[in-house]
Amino acid sequence: MRELGISVLDELIAHLARLPGIGFKTAQRLAIFILKSPDEYAQQLAQAILDVKLKTHLCKRCFNVAEDEYCRICSDPKRDVHKICVVEDIVDVMAIEETHTYNGLYHVLGGVISPLAGVNPEDLNIRPLLERVKNEPIEEIILALNPSTEAETTIIYLTRLLRDTNVQISRLASGVPMGSHLEYLDGATIGMAIQARQKIDKE
Ligand SMILES: [Zn+2]
Repeated sequence: MRELGISVLDELIAHLARLPGIGFKTAQRLAIFILKSPDEYAQQLAQAILDVKLKTHLCKRCFNVAEDEYCRICSDPKRDVHKICVVEDIVDVMAIEETHTYNGLYHVLGGVISPLAGVNPEDLNIRPLLERVKNEPIEEIILALNPSTEAETTIIYLTRLLRDTNVQISRLASGVPMGSHLEYLDGATIGMAIQARQKIDKE
């Protein structure tokens, strides 16, 4: 890595370069931008970074990001409480919300089952999902996982767990390419995939 020899600047570049999708060159450009910005901007940026860590936690119900006990979606009385959209990550909630095509609730699993990566069912928010199915008026669960072999394993696992319940299980229709991530897809693709979701036979 090319260092500028100015330790505080190099340190900022090193931190920025750790962000996803930010290479060394971009990190350098961002650091120089911050360096040239008014002090006020740097303070606001630093405070915003701290706030997002200190003032947020996971929603007690759906594990989405929340500033209070429950997230903005769980607290909204206009949401359809009969549907839960199960996603891997908070960023997937954001991606689906941006499409304005879904009005139900969410449940963030925190990943997918991946024995090779050491992720087992007990590492995910699966038990709280089952609790919700038991205690909430859920009629449908939409499995909106990023297409992958691990997601398929997770879908099979969840479908088995929910086999003896009255909840209808559906999954996103094809149209979401294998190996892609919801966060990188355009709203129309995600919206169509939600609209054309398919029922899963509880075999
Ligand atoms: Zn929530």
